[in-house]
Amino acid sequence: MQEHERLSVRLIELLLLPTILSWIVCGEIAGRVFRRSGRGYWRGCLTGALLGPLGILIVLLFDPTPEVRRVQQLNSGDMTFCRLCLGLIPPNARVCRHCDRDVPVYAAH
Ligand SMILES: [Zn+2]
Repeated sequence: MQEHERLSVRLIELLLLPTILSWIVCGEIAGRVFRRSGRGYWRGCLTGALLGPLGILIVLLFDPTPEVRRVQQLNSGDMTFCRLCLGLIPPNARVCRHCDRDVPVYAAH
């Protein structure tokens, strides 16, 4: 192998490795962010792989889907289930906004 061939192979290695690493790392991060917001891993992964750090910023701009938001509200204690219709209501609600019935209050033990 001649000197200029060795140089071009080295140059390709130097450019290719960071590019492939960037696809993988940015794709993985964007995929995880998008999955957490309820929009699916692979769409985020593709966005991150194609657009790099810009793709990560783009997927971060998406709010969680309503389904994910409800789960977050339940887990954080900001909302609870109505015992009569299973609609989401604030924990201190007296009347359910979904079924318009009085929310039964049970003594906590
Ligand atoms: Zn209700």
